[in-house]
Amino acid sequence: MVVGIIGAGACGLAAATVLEQAKIKYIILERNNKPGSKILASGNGKCNIMNMENMSLNKELIAFLKANSCPTYFDLEGRVYPLSNSSKTILNVFLDNISKENLKTNELVTKIVKKDSCYIVNDYKFDKLILATGSSANIVLSKQSLCYDYLSSLNIRLTELKPSLVGFKVKEDVSILKNNRFKVEVSLYNDSKLIAKENGEIIFKTDGLSGICVMNLSYYYNHLKELKDPYLRININPSFSYNQLKSLKYAFPDNTYLYFKDKDIHNLILHIKDTYDIKDAQVICGGISKNDVNIDYSLKLDKNIYVGGELLDEDFPCGGFNLSHAFRSGFIIGENIKNEIYHRI
Ligand SMILES: Cc1cc2nc3c(=O)[nH]c(=O)nc-3n(C[C@H](O)[C@H](O)[C@H](O)COP(=O)(O)OP(=O)(O)OC[C@H]3O[C@@H](n4cnc5c(N)ncnc54)[C@H](O)[C@@H]3O)c2cc1C
Repeated sequence: MVVGIIGAGACGLAAATVLEQAKIKYIILERNNKPGSKILASGNGKCNIMNMENMSLNKELIAFLKANSCPTYFDLEGRVYPLSNSSKTILNVFLDNISKENLKTNELVTKIVKKDSCYIVNDYKFDKLILATGSSANIVLSKQSLCYDYLSSLNIRLTELKPSLVGFKVKEDVSILKNNRFKVEVSLYNDSKLIAKENGEIIFKTDGLSGICVMNLSYYYNHLKELKDPYLRININPSFSYNQLKSLKYAFPDNTYLYFKDKDIHNLILHIKDTYDIKDAQVICGGISKNDVNIDYSLKLDKNIYVGGELLDEDFPCGGFNLSHAFRSGFIIGENIKNEIYHRI
C-alpha cells in the first residue's frame, strides 16, 4: 500500500507527517524545486498559522507543534505565529517529521491514470491519493492552470474560481492617491445594505485599493449571492473630527489633501468595479465542492482519493484561518487513511 500525495504545501506535508509516524508508505510529488512556497510567503514571512478564534478546531496542529517544541504566540488581534517569527521554522518542523527521500520535487502532475485499482502518476504507482495542490492564488497567469489541469483526467469538477483576500478596482479615479496609506474604517455595501465593516490600513493603487481590511471585505464580496451596485464606504482617520482633518493640509500625505478637498473624508464612497486578479490574491474562492466530498475528505466518486486544503471550495478571511484549514485537513486525511489501513488489517 503506497499513498501518493500531490503537493508539498501545508495540507500535503501535514498528511505526510501522520503517514510517516504510522509507518505507512507514501511519496509526495511537488512541482516546484522546493516544498512549502506558500507556507514561506504566509503572514509576510512570519506565518500566521492559526487564530485564537478557532483554536478548538486545531487540536492536531497545536499538539504537533507542542510535541515538536515549537512555541507560538498570539498578537492583539488573536493571530497565532511561531515564536521565531519565521515561516521557515514552521516549514522545517514539518520537513523534519518526514523522510526526505519520500519528497520528490520538480514533479509536475498533469495527468493521473486509473488502472485497475491503482493510480499512475508520472512514474509512480499508488493505491491511494491525497490531492493537496492548493490553488492558483498568487501564481503568475502562465502557471495558474497547472494547479488544476490534472483534475480533468479524474473527472473532478471545480466550482467557479474567484480571487479572494485581494484588493478592489474601483470606478472612481483614485490615481492621485496611489501608494498612499490611510488608517480607515471601511464598510462594504451591496444593494444599499451594509455587508461587513473592517478597521485597518488601506493602500491605494492606480485604479483601486488594497490592505488587509479591504482584503477581508473581498471575502464577503465573493460570498454575496448577487452583486447589486457594490461599493465601499470609507471613513478616513475615524478618530479625528471632520474639522481637524479638513483644516490641516499636513494631515494627509503629500498633495493627497487636494483630492479630499471637496469630499466628505468620513464618508468617501468608492464603487467597486471588480477585484484584482488571481495572481494578486492570497487565496481562491472556489475549488472542489464540499458536496463532492465525504466527511472524511474522500471524494464521493472515488473513496480512495482524498482532497484537502485550498483545493477545496472553502475559503476564510485573513488571520490564520486558511493555513490552519489546510494543516487541519491534512492531519485529518492522514489519520483517516491510517485508521482505514489498520482497521482493514
Ligand atoms: C502571499 C500569501 C500570504 C498568505 N498569508 C497567510 C497567512 O498569514 N495566514 C493564512 O492562514 N493563510 C495565508 N495565506 C494562504 C495560505 O498560504 C494557503 O491557504 C495555504 O498555504 C494553502 O495550503 P495548501 O496545502 O492547500 O496549498 P499550498 O500550500 O499552495 O500547497 C500546494 C502545493 O502543491 C504544489 N502543486 C500545485 N499543483 C501541482 C501539480 N499539478 N503537481 C505537483 N505539485 C503541485 C504547489 O507547488 C504547492 O507546493 C497566504 C497566501 C499567500 C499567497
